[in-house]
Amino acid sequence: MSADRQPSHIAALEAGGTKCICAVGRTPDELRLLANRLEVPSDSGPQQVLARITAWLSTQHAREPLQAIGIASFGPLDLDPASPSYGSITSTPKPGWRNTDWLGEFARTLPGVPVAIDTDVNGAALGEWQWGAAQGLDDFVYLTMGTGIGGGAMVGGRLVHGLLHPEMGHMRVPRIAGDDFAGVCPFHGDCWEGLCSGPALQARTGTAAHGIAADDPAWGYLLRYTAHAIGNIVCTLSPRRIILGGSVRKAGALGEAAYFAGLRRELQRSLNGYVTSAALRGNDEGGGIDDYIVPPALGDEAGVCGAMALAQRRVALQP
Ligand code: ZN
Repeated sequence: MSADRQPSHIAALEAGGTKCICAVGRTPDELRLLANRLEVPSDSGPQQVLARITAWLSTQHAREPLQAIGIASFGPLDLDPASPSYGSITSTPKPGWRNTDWLGEFARTLPGVPVAIDTDVNGAALGEWQWGAAQGLDDFVYLTMGTGIGGGAMVGGRLVHGLLHPEMGHMRVPRIAGDDFAGVCPFHGDCWEGLCSGPALQARTGTAAHGIAADDPAWGYLLRYTAHAIGNIVCTLSPRRIILGGSVRKAGALGEAAYFAGLRRELQRSLNGYVTSAALRGNDEGGGIDDYIVPPALGDEAGVCGAMALAQRRVALQP
């Protein structure tokens, strides 16, 4: 993009397990304006969600042409451009959403507008890289813990896709002795997501995260399992920072600050001094762990800003 050209008019769609947020604008600040934004609960099912979003976007497009659409969606997604189901949701446990064809639907309703699609977490990672907590870092991981758990990784300045895309939420974590909670993942039971997602926390305690007391043992389990999962990521990808978003981090009565402090402490315990880096030592010991695991700088806007970043990248790649 030349310096004197105005930024592109973009539609950004964050498709989450609880709600889909669609916004139009040229900058992250414009995406935040209520007049530029539509939120649709995901429980109403894909047909209704897609119908409302595409109708709204068609109106926006008629008012001012959209130059690209960016979609950051929960998955799993088919991201192989050579596949007939490219741009669709595949084996999701979310009822009714299997085989939802994001790309096809936008191609039909907004023909000629280029669409970029990636996982919600890869999108959020790109958003944080461009405007947030990962600026200047080419090796980091963005995690979300909410309705599900997922992770997007940037390695050497590139978002990792590989065979499909990473599914960090479904990694296995070692069982804590004495914990007999079966987990809620329909595929694996007690994978990380099965033990530590919002629905898992609710199934374990019988109440939603915001209603769980600060001294409930569920937080201890959650922090220790999550620290093991993050330890696995540290050992596998060697990220320079972990950004942890999603609703679970707000941690109800425990609070976000205590949640992050507990997570940093448990990560040190899980790694047990093996991965030697000042970044993993406590700030009181001259280390930087308080800057190593951090909440998203874009807050709850990371996903929708990420969708914008995906679309901007798509426009920039066009001849
Ligand atoms: Zn699983």
